[in-house]
Amino acid sequence: MAEHRHFEGGAIVIASHNAGKVQEFADLLAPLGAEASPAAELGLAEPAESGETFRANAEIKAVAAARASGLPALADDSGLQASALGGEPGIYSARWAGRRRDFGRAMERLEREIGDDDDRRARFVCALALAWPDGHCETFEGVVQGSLVWPPRGENGFGYDPVFVPRGHDVTFAEMAADEKGAISHRADAFRQLMAACFNNG
Ligand code: IMP
Repeated sequence: MAEHRHFEGGAIVIASHNAGKVQEFADLLAPLGAEASPAAELGLAEPAESGETFRANAEIKAVAAARASGLPALADDSGLQASALGGEPGIYSARWAGRRRDFGRAMERLEREIGDDDDRRARFVCALALAWPDGHCETFEGVVQGSLVWPPRGENGFGYDPVFVPRGHDVTFAEMAADEKGAISHRADAFRQLMAACFNNG
């Protein structure tokens, strides 16, 4: 098994300017002896997500924050991949919603582009990267498989949740309670891998 670098406790920068994500990370890290500091509070700039994969983008964000702050930093990059579209929108999931973050529009585009293709399979992917100031990075990818439905259903969650039914369930992510989605999501999967590899008590 590959050797992973361990997080030894103390402060950790959350390299995200999304308040919801920062809170989610802080809650997960608190019991593990890590004190979470949002990148925005430290005045760190947000680097351009110029990578071509979830993994590359998560690493760009984590390494930039770790180098700038001198502290370990955690970042994620995630999105939806539709099988009929060869994995699109993928790393462009947020960008499909435009500047106004209009996910109604993004979901309509998804439905339009899939058209009458019978292949409704999709998955959410989350790459989670923990970087150190020397540039070392540990990255893990979490996945949840499922299928796309139309029209959208449910009010919970965010993004593409109303059109995604995880495998083995009848309801969309947006029809699930937060803790139910949280137990099976791509982000939870990536977190479990990170905790097991890099945290002593993981
Ligand atoms: P990121 O903030 O650059 O990682 O962009 C992630 C984008 O992927 C979000 O804006 C959503 O559109 C989509 N996405 C990622 N995870 C989820 C999820 O759990 N539910 C719904 N949409 C998600």
